[in-house]
Amino acid sequence: MSLLAVENLDCRYGLLQAVRGVSFEIAQGETFALIGANGAGKTTLLRSIAGAHKPHAGRVTLDGVDITSLPAHRRVALGIALVPEGRRLFPTLTVEENLRIAAARNSTGRWNMKSVLEVFPILQPRRHMPASTLSGGEQQAVAIGRALMTNPRLLLLDEVSLGLAPIVVDAVYRSLIDILQEGATVVLVEQDLTRALKVSDRVTCMLEGRIVLQGEARSLDRNQVVGAYFGLRRPASGSASA
Ligand code: ATP
Repeated sequence: MSLLAVENLDCRYGLLQAVRGVSFEIAQGETFALIGANGAGKTTLLRSIAGAHKPHAGRVTLDGVDITSLPAHRRVALGIALVPEGRRLFPTLTVEENLRIAAARNSTGRWNMKSVLEVFPILQPRRHMPASTLSGGEQQAVAIGRALMTNPRLLLLDEVSLGLAPIVVDAVYRSLIDILQEGATVVLVEQDLTRALKVSDRVTCMLEGRIVLQGEARSLDRNQVVGAYFGLRRPASGSASA
């Protein structure tokens, strides 16, 4: 059975329909990249999985259990962790305090203060500094680390490279690849096609709220992906779904 299933999801902001009839499934251990231009509906979809946006219609199930109407904090307890766009750290708290705040009680999972600091070595010398004094890349590392501290079964990452210099993105992705190789199940919203294709098992492209292309990352043709991304042409058949 899939870990996550999204079925015919519709999300709205008033009259604006941001997500239109989206369906997909994610298996345990899979890295699933969501790509698409600005306004395609990626963040809204991710927030609906996390319980931060109430869908207008459709279903979200985790391990076959319908969680569509569960509030966000209950989904965290079930193992869904969102790293939001913009990181949303507590600026006056230190790195360690930001991490500790998220630690799941009685958690016996892989992630704790020690293992998070090991996977993000750039945070080691910063651990007692307020989050507001960190660079963008360091803050992003704290945001991902904070999500890991909940020992999630499903990690949702929204544009981890946004606003970061390429060299910093490389450092964040190096840590991320270690996390993925350990078998984490991840939905990754990423504007950078090259990175998305490189790190993920499966790629889904959204355009104006709909899925316009879906397939195994290694078998997708880059031109086809670029076409779907910009809405230049619809793929003829096979992996396309409208
Ligand atoms: P981006 O990469 O720019 O974040 P996205 O693919 O994540 O884009 P969303 O942020 O989900 O897309 O936005 C989808 C649509 O919903 C867009 O038309 C956007 O303007 C609209 N939208 C998003 N958030 C809100 C909101 N809080 N209120 C009203 N409309 C919104």
